[in-house]
Amino acid sequence: MFSKILIANRGEIAVRIIRACKEMGISTVAVFSEADREALHVSLADESYCIGPAPVGESYLNMAAIISAAFCSGAQAIHPGYGLLSENARFAALCEECNITFIGPRSETIAKTGDKDEARKTMRAAGVPVIPGCDAVSSVEEAKEQAKQIGFPLLIKARAGGGGRGIRLVKEESELEAAYLNASREALSAFGDGGVYMEKYLYPAKHIEMQILCDNYGNVVCLGERECSIQRKNQKLIEECPSNALDAPTRQRMIEVAAKAAKAVNYRNAGTVEFLYKDGQFYFMEMNTRLQVEHTVTEMVTGLDLVKWQIRIAAGQKLGFSQEDIRLDGHAIECRINAENPEQNFRPSCGRITLLHIPGGPWVRFDTALYQDYFVPPYYDSMIGKLIVYAKTREEAIRKLQAALCELVIEGVDHNSQLHMELLSDPEFKSGDYYTDFMAKKGY
Ligand code: ADP
Ligand code: ADP
Ligand code: MG
Repeated sequence: MFSKILIANRGEIAVRIIRACKEMGISTVAVFSEADREALHVSLADESYCIGPAPVGESYLNMAAIISAAFCSGAQAIHPGYGLLSENARFAALCEECNITFIGPRSETIAKTGDKDEARKTMRAAGVPVIPGCDAVSSVEEAKEQAKQIGFPLLIKARAGGGGRGIRLVKEESELEAAYLNASREALSAFGDGGVYMEKYLYPAKHIEMQILCDNYGNVVCLGERECSIQRKNQKLIEECPSNALDAPTRQRMIEVAAKAAKAVNYRNAGTVEFLYKDGQFYFMEMNTRLQVEHTVTEMVTGLDLVKWQIRIAAGQKLGFSQEDIRLDGHAIECRINAENPEQNFRPSCGRITLLHIPGGPWVRFDTALYQDYFVPPYYDSMIGKLIVYAKTREEAIRKLQAALCELVIEGVDHNSQLHMELLSDPEFKSGDYYTDFMAKKGY
């Protein structure tokens, strides 16, 4: 086992990883930007290194600074968290070259799945059903030609995409040119790659994803699904496990297909296979080669600590269980608490936390890096916490989440807990009969 791990991230996920390390008796190294000197992950870690100015490009994405911190501290492994460098194949390769264990899949796997157009081809060849669509298109003319085959409505999607960016809905041909140019431009500025491909727009559909864990010895276990259809601008807001849309045979098929997808790319460590589910059929959308924000709901229903398993796998341990051992017991729901104002077009908010009360009680979990008097800086992702509850049934879990939200007090920044209260009491949400267009239909 490693004796020291560097955490190349910030915020709640850095705190989450540091906690797992502590419980495993592993020393922790934090890295931080100049804006994060007072951040919780820095004070919780055993040692810490400043890696540059506030903008992520100069700090949390600064590979040379992070690798240097690993060398200075003697860390044997790097956990990248999610976002930032977690799906950067170059960074994973750099770790490999420097003899530092990257806690995640091999760099070649990241490269293969990070290009979503390439991933579609790989999955199709492996017999995994993919969303009907086309390969990468390189001009408006080509897009128009392909669109005739796919039909409208369709989506133009960035091949390097992530975080819901670089995606445009095209309802009819007249909208195609502008959408193509917009998606491509957004992709170029967000990912440095303007390449796009197209997919049939599936609706009404549910976003259902499968969590997998793979060790270095060919063992692949699927830890069940997460339903993530409550999204705003293609970004998840509420996630749950299990999904009440899946019957047992469909879940079983989906588990088998997810395992097949993992094997197709020689997968290692924790990963997620995302599907769109429509009328009893499911289609591969993309593979996320990292820990997900919403891994927590899987932890609650399986009783497995995913971060600890990531570390064990990276250290060369075998999975200590097989598919038959996995039981989804009860129901968990997570809501993402974002520092933003839903009444002002979700404008991000920053400022000093003047009052903080975190809800408690049995099976209530709040993952956050906030503390009283902490200053939420303006430079980073607006997610400031995740409220997760677990109960025997979905109905009970919703009630528990409502009670916990009522108790949550965060003053000093705008946030979206009131919006979550509204969503949770919505009859359509309660019925479980909702799709990825739920938020848009409510006018969000
Ligand atoms: P996930 O699939 O893990 O739920 P999303 O798809 O909602 O993540 O978010 C997409 C990307 O946005 C993630 O890969 C992550 O890079 C980034 N992201 C979201 N929240 C944060 C955060 N708090 N810090 C850094 N990156 C974040
Ligand atoms: P990202 O890499 O940004 O996470 P995804 O390919 O996972 O992009 O898509 C993000 C979200 O966009 C999905 O969760 C889904 O709600 C929506 N979406 C993506 N592709 C389609 C499609 N072909 N039809 C309908 N909705 C889609
Ligand atoms: Mg996705």
